[in-house]
Amino acid sequence: MPKRLNRIKITLLLIIILSMLCFSFSVTVTASTIEKHVLFLAPQTPDYPGTELYEQGLKNTLAKNSDCKFSYSYEYLDLARYPNDEGYLQNTAQYFKAKYKIQQPDFIITTVNLYPLFAKYGNEMFPNVPIIMDWNEDNQPLVTMPLNYVVIPRSIEIDQNIQLIRQTSPLTKKIYMVVGDSADERTIVKRILEVQKKYAGQLEFVLLNDLPYAQMLEHLRNAGDHSAILYLQWFSDVDGKSFVPAQVIQTICREANVPVYGVAIQYLGLGVIGGYVGNQEIIGQTAANVVLDIVSGNKPSDNPVINAPSRTYTFDWRQLKRWGIEENTLPSGSEIMYKPTTVWDLYGRYIIVGIVLLVLQALLIFGLLINWGKRIKAESELSQSNISLEKTVLDRTHELSKANDQLISAKEQLETLNIQLELIARTDSLTGLFNRRHAEEKIQEEYEKYRRNGREFAVVIADIDFFKKVNDAYGHDTGDIILRAVSQSLRESVRAYDTIARWGGEEFLLLLPETKAESAELLVERIRKTVEEHAFAYYGGTLSVTMTFGVSAIRTNDTIVDVIKRADHALYKGKNAGRNCVKSV
Ligand code: GH3
Ligand code: MG
Ligand code: MG
Repeated sequence: MPKRLNRIKITLLLIIILSMLCFSFSVTVTASTIEKHVLFLAPQTPDYPGTELYEQGLKNTLAKNSDCKFSYSYEYLDLARYPNDEGYLQNTAQYFKAKYKIQQPDFIITTVNLYPLFAKYGNEMFPNVPIIMDWNEDNQPLVTMPLNYVVIPRSIEIDQNIQLIRQTSPLTKKIYMVVGDSADERTIVKRILEVQKKYAGQLEFVLLNDLPYAQMLEHLRNAGDHSAILYLQWFSDVDGKSFVPAQVIQTICREANVPVYGVAIQYLGLGVIGGYVGNQEIIGQTAANVVLDIVSGNKPSDNPVINAPSRTYTFDWRQLKRWGIEENTLPSGSEIMYKPTTVWDLYGRYIIVGIVLLVLQALLIFGLLINWGKRIKAESELSQSNISLEKTVLDRTHELSKANDQLISAKEQLETLNIQLELIARTDSLTGLFNRRHAEEKIQEEYEKYRRNGREFAVVIADIDFFKKVNDAYGHDTGDIILRAVSQSLRESVRAYDTIARWGGEEFLLLLPETKAESAELLVERIRKTVEEHAFAYYGGTLSVTMTFGVSAIRTNDTIVDVIKRADHALYKGKNAGRNCVKSV
């Protein structure tokens, strides 16, 4: 039993938790999708530009609010076309009462033109629905409004527009006041009559409200110099004919030959100069802010009259030009529409940035060019200096080479001279044979070869026999000639590798390398014979001479002196033996 009770308790608890979750979810969904419905209740038709501006201002402002989603519906009563009498109001009230009985709108947006309907039937038709109504007076309504009503005053400004006409067209003497004959417009006429008192004696006013449309136009067509038109509103004429005010002003601007001023922003662009104009868009924005204020929890009665600035001095640039009105005559803070945008207006910033960039780029290029020029100049100077340096180096090299050549040549000449000197130093001047010094050196060389290699050599000393007699008999010159001739004969007789030198006076030394004593004797004998048989020429004829030869070959332990002495000794022996012979020791 207790178990069963527990199970029931748990089931109940789960159901409670689930239902709480569902509830909180539905609350969340509802909170995130608050929807409010706004009903526009307009006295005219939808094609009124002022109405369009009003809706635009309201809807755009409400669309920015993300907490709440707004939907819209519309009722247009077209009061200018239908009789605004008690019967019509009663029928209309019944219709709305029936239509909105089940689903009332959250807000109603309407205007003062429908005040008679709301004053009498408002609470019946839309009990407790907040009603936002624009009002045609600057002051709070004299009547007491119900608690759910908010009014936004916006009246047509007459006096400031008259002052504006005097300021911008100072020659104006007459102003045509264009205003229709609807109930709303009659209140405007009352206000005109009040204002015009102020200008008595200064300006003439022509009120056209009591004329049918065609006559009103005719008046304006005939407007003379120094006059201007102030267009206020023309919903319906005195015959009850209804009009769209914006279309009326367009026609007037086309037909009249004087400047036309207007009082509402929607008239701009239709030919009107401009004026101190009411902006329905601002009224719409103000109405939207009232709606949001109420959505956020405030009551309409907390703030039943909303005064918001809704007028601006606004002008059409093209019309200012047409009528020769300078911009500096306009009130400060004036807005000018339809001013042609120049390329400068559109792209001025980009053009300035572009020019700055171009200038910077040009400066950069200029700097680079200067740098480039400097570099080229430096390179050219460097190249010139290189060329000059190369030329100098070449010149110097050439000079050095030339000096070197000269040095080499001088060296060669010196060497040649040295060789010649050496030769001279070793040559006997009379005979042209080597001298004793050379002979001694050659003997020394051969001796060293012998000591190194054992190569034997022979030394021969030869002497002309009885040469004193030659001198004595033929003269010393002939002696010289014979000495030279004998020398020549001896040179021709020896082998190429033998050395022959004048050893002194009429004595000669023969050095015979690699020659043993016997071979030397044979060779010398042949020479002796050649000399003996030769007829030596001289000035006066020929002469024969003989020679004696002493031969000595090198021996072991010999010194140079030893071998020469022996040859000398052998010569001595030959002289003693009768001369003209070869002796060896
Ligand atoms: P011998 O057969 O013993 O050698 O008798 P000789 O006359 O040749 O020898 P001697 O030594 O008496 O004389 C040598 C001469 O040679 C003396 C000298 O006038 C001569 N004589 C030496 N040198 C020259 C020279 O250069 N020119 C000439 N013309 N005569 C020279
Ligand atoms: Mg002699
Ligand atoms: Mg001699």
